[in-house]
Amino acid sequence: MPTPYRDETQVLHADAELSAGPSVVAPIHYSATFTAADAEAFAEMANTPRHPAFYTRYGNPGHERVAAIVAELEGTETALVTASGMGAISTTVLALVQAGDHVIAQSRHYMSTTKLFEEVLPRFGVEVSIVEQEDIAAFAAAIRPNTRLIMVETPVNPTLTLTDLAAVAALAKPRGILTIADNTFASPLNQRPHALGIDIVVHSATKYLGGHHDLTAGVVCCDRATAERIWKMHTTLGAVLSPMDAWLLLRGLRTLPVRIERINATALALAGWIAQQPLVEQVWYPGLPSHPQHALATRQMTGHGAVIAFALRGGYAITSRFVAALRLATHAVSLGGVESLVVHTAAMWAGTMNDAQMISAGIAPNLVRYSVGLEHVEDLKADIAQALATASQ
Ligand SMILES: *Cc1c(COP(=O)(O)O)cnc(C)c1O
Repeated sequence: MPTPYRDETQVLHADAELSAGPSVVAPIHYSATFTAADAEAFAEMANTPRHPAFYTRYGNPGHERVAAIVAELEGTETALVTASGMGAISTTVLALVQAGDHVIAQSRHYMSTTKLFEEVLPRFGVEVSIVEQEDIAAFAAAIRPNTRLIMVETPVNPTLTLTDLAAVAALAKPRGILTIADNTFASPLNQRPHALGIDIVVHSATKYLGGHHDLTAGVVCCDRATAERIWKMHTTLGAVLSPMDAWLLLRGLRTLPVRIERINATALALAGWIAQQPLVEQVWYPGLPSHPQHALATRQMTGHGAVIAFALRGGYAITSRFVAALRLATHAVSLGGVESLVVHTAAMWAGTMNDAQMISAGIAPNLVRYSVGLEHVEDLKADIAQALATASQ
């Protein structure tokens, strides 16, 4: 699309040239396989990389529409759609590295990404260095002659720590090292890693892009040549998004800018309010001046997203009572959808560790992760207020 429309317009029209037939809304192409008029047309379909209508593991018209929109939002040449965020990340990394290569990743990543780098890649002869994401000098010091890839993710769980994307890209680019950024926690409306020099942007579309907690999907955004390499691995690994979920994701994308705008505003107001509550010990939100990397957040993000982390005064028991007393936020993992969700991070380990053991393992027993949805901010405040009152009784 030649016209540089704004995001609100792109999510509705970036796939317009892909329209087929008279329906206003894109059809669901619920077909595993597609026919051609004659042998020549069939041969062309079979030999065109990323053909959108040959066989659904290779591509589907619904995937193509989603990809057109997300590529527009991220400012990359193209995008590839997968069955989950981990499908996007594992397929991308496995397409780009081989035995003898060295890669750099962060000490804190989404847990399954950490497993990919720390457990899977070493089994296939790839060397992995792990660095602290706030420390650009550590990225620089980790680079070796065989460094092929740097993986970053920002903001990251649990306390929304940031990586300086432009600084990492400036280290990698002159040395020919590829960079991948997991942009899930920001969304393309709040952060554009490619504009800061990152080569490949990956998403768990399960979160903001889908936005309704009803599907799992992933997206990889990059240049066409790299996308073709990743697509070849994708046809082998087969993390293929179903046509139905591609359609739901397309539907979710249509409202992404308005959802993000509201979520940013609600989360910023709520984070500031939570910080003032006497039972709250500390709040982490990149949009608040109290965040240790607020200056970087202001520089590389235009909004700060749904996730607020906070610690209550007291230990595991009071935090557990607080989470149980919330009526509006549902106790469930994930983020970025229309309903507010809350997680008591330490609850996963409560069966096997006491408070002291959790603290020494870096899992604060009093930490809450709250993902703001589209409820009214005053209702969310009132709900948190009553849950704090219940927890402190
Ligand atoms: C959820 C998530 C993933 C994994 O995505 P799935 O869709 O669950 O496979 C990867 N990275 C981040 C930052 C996530 O939040």
